[in-house]
Amino acid sequence: MSRAAIATIDLGALKHNLSIVRKNAPYSKILAVIKANAYGHGLETMARALTEADGFAVAHFEEAIAIREIYKDKPVVLLQGFADEIELALLLSLSIEPVIHSFYQIDILEKSELTDTTSVWLKVDTGMNRLGFAHADMLTAWQRLNAIESLKDRVKIMSHFANADDKNHPGTDDQISLFQILTKECNAEKSLANSSGLLHWPESQLDWVRPGIMLYGVSPFKNELEDNFDLMPVMTLKSRIIAINQIEKDEAIGYGHIWKAKKNTSIAVVGIGYGDGYPRHIKENTPVLINNTRYQIVGRVSMDMICVELNDDYKINVGDEVVLWGEGLPVEEIAIQAGTIAYELLCHVTARVKFEAING
Ligand SMILES: *Cc1c(COP(=O)(O)O)cnc(C)c1O
Repeated sequence: MSRAAIATIDLGALKHNLSIVRKNAPYSKILAVIKANAYGHGLETMARALTEADGFAVAHFEEAIAIREIYKDKPVVLLQGFADEIELALLLSLSIEPVIHSFYQIDILEKSELTDTTSVWLKVDTGMNRLGFAHADMLTAWQRLNAIESLKDRVKIMSHFANADDKNHPGTDDQISLFQILTKECNAEKSLANSSGLLHWPESQLDWVRPGIMLYGVSPFKNELEDNFDLMPVMTLKSRIIAINQIEKDEAIGYGHIWKAKKNTSIAVVGIGYGDGYPRHIKENTPVLINNTRYQIVGRVSMDMICVELNDDYKINVGDEVVLWGEGLPVEEIAIQAGTIAYELLCHVTARVKFEAING
């Protein structure tokens, strides 16, 4: 059997979502966050379509190099910075902008006799308590970076929100105030907002916004399905029905026999499973779409297949398309069913799935 599972990647939707960022943050430059293979959508395909972005941010070195090959002049920010002088030399030669989050990186910069230069991002921790300089160290880090001749006037400052996916969390306002206080005297370009920050806390937009998830058409707010800010899903994950079987009342199906038919019924077997990245731990009654109608998954998700119960009067045939998430069925909804967030589902689609860009 050929590969049944397909992820269509709607480049028109991606461009539309970027325009929604622009509309919401009209005075900021946009650093499109395309780490983790562009949240599972395909790094280079996404980057090439995002011609209107002002720059790109990635987590890993290889990703930064790939983007630099596509865009010779746009800023490319490496969110985890560099680990040693060899990496530093390489990123300087490619004008990739590292995030500086620890003193060991400043030590390397100070000792380096490299002559190439680039901008760097000083990362200050305003409450996430993950990566970045503690506030007590921020000024020292700022002064040491600015004392490096080749970095003069090239130091930018950033921080990251811990709770902006919750509109009611007071921590975000605290982080914004702390960032303003800490960076008040610093003459630098500044960046604070991810998707949720830029949408709900416009005062956090500053010089650069850093949207990730909203570019892919997903609401950044947890458990929020009603307001999607006019975003359009970029990925639609689909597969096909490979069999339709009649099951008698009281028969159980699939591994572990966790579901039993309450009546004589029809079961469509669909060619997708956790081997493709569809979550195994979904709750009962998780929907799929067949011909724009919702049906429910029954029994356990297996590696290559799921089972879906059809209506009594179904007009569905073997070979029909089944949408697992995307157009018409928000991935946010499936994420709730799976006890996770859309970010994770999108990142976990496996290489076995065939990716097809549309509307390019
Ligand atoms: C991932 C990431 C973003 C983007 O966050 P979204 O919630 O996807 O918008 C922005 N900034 C940093 C530092 C990140 O790691």
